[in-house]
Amino acid sequence: MNVVPIKSKRTLDVVDVDAELKAFEQAERERLGLQGETEHWIEEMAGLTFTKSEKSKITMLVSGLTMAHDYFIEAAFRGIGYHCQMMDCPDVAALQYGKEFGNRGQCNPTYFTVGNLVKFLCTLRDKHGMTPKEIIEKYVFLTAGACGPCRFGMYNTEYRKALRDAGFDGFRVVLFQQTGGIKQATGEASGLEINAAFCWALLKALLAGDILNAIGYRTRPYEVNAGDTDRAIAKAKKILYDALQTQRNILAALWECKPLFEAVVVDRTVARPKVSIIGEFWAMTTEGDGNYQLQRFLEGEGAEADIQLVTAWVLYLVWEARRDTLERMNLRGADGGKYGLEKVKGPFGVALKLAGVYAADKLVRGAFQTFAHALGLYGYHLPDMFEIAEVSDQYYSNDLRGGEGHMEVGKLIMNVLHSKAHMTLSVKPFGCMPSASVSDGVQSAITEKFPGTIFCPVETSGDGRVNFYSRVQMYLFKAKQAAVAELDRACMEHGVTIEQVRAYLVANPRFGRSLHKAPHRYAGNAADLVAEVAPYITMSRAERLRGKLEGLARSTRDTARKSPHMVVKLVKEAVEAAPEVAARVKEDVTTFVEAKRSKKTAKVAAPPAMDAAAE
Ligand code: SF4
Repeated sequence: MNVVPIKSKRTLDVVDVDAELKAFEQAERERLGLQGETEHWIEEMAGLTFTKSEKSKITMLVSGLTMAHDYFIEAAFRGIGYHCQMMDCPDVAALQYGKEFGNRGQCNPTYFTVGNLVKFLCTLRDKHGMTPKEIIEKYVFLTAGACGPCRFGMYNTEYRKALRDAGFDGFRVVLFQQTGGIKQATGEASGLEINAAFCWALLKALLAGDILNAIGYRTRPYEVNAGDTDRAIAKAKKILYDALQTQRNILAALWECKPLFEAVVVDRTVARPKVSIIGEFWAMTTEGDGNYQLQRFLEGEGAEADIQLVTAWVLYLVWEARRDTLERMNLRGADGGKYGLEKVKGPFGVALKLAGVYAADKLVRGAFQTFAHALGLYGYHLPDMFEIAEVSDQYYSNDLRGGEGHMEVGKLIMNVLHSKAHMTLSVKPFGCMPSASVSDGVQSAITEKFPGTIFCPVETSGDGRVNFYSRVQMYLFKAKQAAVAELDRACMEHGVTIEQVRAYLVANPRFGRSLHKAPHRYAGNAADLVAEVAPYITMSRAERLRGKLEGLARSTRDTARKSPHMVVKLVKEAVEAAPEVAARVKEDVTTFVEAKRSKKTAKVAAPPAMDAAAE
């Protein structure tokens, strides 16, 4: 082998990459004749918000989540002094409006949501006799916006284009992030203030909507008298709406609703397939024609729909903030992006930001569980975003954003690993960019890796209801068989028959109540219930106690066995990271000391300057 002696080696020159790139860009510009000023086309958009003086005559329109969420958001905003009105759930007519006035080649949720707004305004004009001018003056549409890599980043312009073409040029579509501050043209303060009261009102509405939905989907498939759960939900909605509108204590209102659900008679000894609905956020959340009323269809087919809550999406956003902060803190410079660190000032600023994100995660989880327990939603576990990110990273990078990001992959894996559902149904809207890559590409690798997974990807295009339903039915057949087999297995493993379990529940009704939740062991509720009550049927009190003590000892032993490894691992990691942490702390301290010193110098230097000014 040819070995180069150390002395004859030469060090490479330090290259200023930025300068080289700039020079290259300049040369290319000259070569292509692009040195002149670039003129950007800008559309003179309508006023993006409304002013304080307009507030009393403006009605904010809201829509886009489930019906319960939209309804509660309306009440919550009314409670803090806004005129607010929810729009109907988007239906096929909305899709037609969207297709008529929207751009070509959009994804399905764009057509539905944009079309729903146009449809509402057309109804005001054509049925209620309002002129477009009146509508533009009296209504605004409030929505969330984003600058993601998918079409969600273009919703805002899509709304404006469709509204202009439908004859409502100048109608205001207000994004949360465009509000606040001073309105440029008039110098007047914005009518929509994103302050603590606004955020708390919104959070209350979202949590109340989530919990009511979760309890409804958990109870309805097992109700003995058809319609009992829906009647309880209707009454609870009214109570919660009034509480939000009058700003009454929301926990007391949730508590007041609890007996309504307690009164629903259920039979959880029937084997029902649990279907976890995942996929694109809007398509899996809506309850209308946007996903062909998927949740109700599943229930009609004898399944239990396991829906994703909006709170899980909030937790994903919190996870994103943490991940992006960690990735950014080692960059050469700070950027001013959404999660950029440009505004993070002072030493330990990054650490404080991370602590804030951690606290936000805990706060959302804490608030959710408090609300859930007040209404009687017991044993509901919000997804662990860090675990989802970890299990999915090798298949779908955590850095790919748009749509649900890696969550769709992570949720499927979690469903299989933790027996969360018998079947996973992924709803992909027609024309959705992120969802198409996930369901078509990555998820097939996951199903290969975890054989036996029942995974059903379905596309929603608005006009393929029959195909959609028949595809779901096909997979559901397998899921039903899996649920029945699982119940039989649970009975066998615990040495009981389902008749014995039913007889036990008649004698001990507390286990059969609608709000009772058996601990999670299997995918189905019936199998979980068998596992919970079987020891009461087959064992004496002393044997159960012995079993419990043995279980406790086993788990303590496991923890003790794992602990040294965990401690060693943590110490190892800390030692490895120590030089880097020390260097960063040193750098932070130096910056801090320098900043203080320069302040002092400025103070000392100040008097002569003042003197000079006075002279
Ligand atoms: S995730 Fe897909 S369906 Fe949703 S807005 Fe983006 S492109 Fe459209």
